[in-house]
Amino acid sequence: MTTETNTAQAVSGRAQAIAPSATLAITSKANALKAQGLAVVGFGAGEPDFATPQHIVEAAVAAARDPKNHKYSPAAGLPDLREAVAAKTARDSGLDVAPSQVVITNGGKHAVYATCQVLLDPGDEALLPAPYWVTYPEAIGLAEGVPVVVPSDETTGYKVSVDQLEAARTDRTKLLVFVSPSNPTGAVYTADEVEAIGRWAAEHGIWVMTDEIYEHLVYGDNTFTSLPVRVPEMADRTVVVNGVAKTYAMTGWRVGWLIAPSAVASAAARLQSHTTSNVANVSQRAALAAVSGPLDDVAAMREAFDRRRLLTHRLLNEIPGVVAPEPQGAFYAFPAMKGVLGRRHGDTVIESTLDLAAAALESALVAFVPGEAFGAPGYARFSFALGDADIERGLTKLAEFVAELT
Ligand code: PMP
Repeated sequence: MTTETNTAQAVSGRAQAIAPSATLAITSKANALKAQGLAVVGFGAGEPDFATPQHIVEAAVAAARDPKNHKYSPAAGLPDLREAVAAKTARDSGLDVAPSQVVITNGGKHAVYATCQVLLDPGDEALLPAPYWVTYPEAIGLAEGVPVVVPSDETTGYKVSVDQLEAARTDRTKLLVFVSPSNPTGAVYTADEVEAIGRWAAEHGIWVMTDEIYEHLVYGDNTFTSLPVRVPEMADRTVVVNGVAKTYAMTGWRVGWLIAPSAVASAAARLQSHTTSNVANVSQRAALAAVSGPLDDVAAMREAFDRRRLLTHRLLNEIPGVVAPEPQGAFYAFPAMKGVLGRRHGDTVIESTLDLAAAALESALVAFVPGEAFGAPGYARFSFALGDADIERGLTKLAEFVAELT
């Protein structure tokens, strides 16, 4: 007992401040139920349900056989891959960058972490539109920055305005975290909205970290707009975060990158040289095949996601009390569940979306992530990166569950 207490005290303040993932309880419970052989429908996962395209896997197999990939390589990434990422960025978003501005990281997540480490000094404020992806506030906090949350809701399609950003700006504001298409909301900012935000940032000398990891997953009339392309004067104050995880169904390969002005890219490479060294060479070779190859597989996956998006949107809105705006991008629906709260499930009152998620999992075997995880209690995130039949089955069961609440 004493030893346990002493050990807990040994944990640094920095590590103690890292919030336990609000999704963890639901995920581990869902896994435990699955392990018992129960057919849980999982809307929780933030990853494509497809396998990585075959030509990418083949490139990795060949790389694993080549002894030159068995050794350390440059901390900033394989030169071929940095060059291919620069070429891909020009091809896909129209942003011209030098390969030296590209730093290959252990996934987009690590690019977010590195960006915060190299841009933020203690006390620097980072504007963070909510609902936000869970990692952003933690990465800001680990750099001793201060996340300043700028809220949004379904009435604006989960998008923040320049007026809201301006109201949150202080003389300590260093950075704006921008993500479109968005995890968790599926919101996509229009080109004009991106331009307005970019111009505002330029006017006030604010840096932007723009997370473009869902760039290829936009639906209907929506288009992806890269902020430093639309507002070129921001190019020397923007860090682009991206990676292969979502576009090529490569979440497990752990390859992402950041693109930054030279001094910031060099600092990120230095940081990496003392923390992670190079990203696994086999994974980098797979990523090279991905970014320099065709986008056909991406188009096929997008088509499937689009169909599932419309199905998810329709079935969610058929549940009385649930209000789901149509997702514009990524693979998430983010309905307001407030109309379902305050009712009873047996003897328990469902007071929050945390309660709702726990009860729906236990009784209906449907797993989704409560909005609390994203700074948005009263909401929920449903990933639609699962099969059409599963979506239909899961949301029918959820509807039945909600109908039984009293
Ligand atoms: N940014 C956003 C918005 C994401 O949703 C994710 C994955 N959940 C990432 C970055 C990081 O992806 P990865 O580290 O797998 O490349």
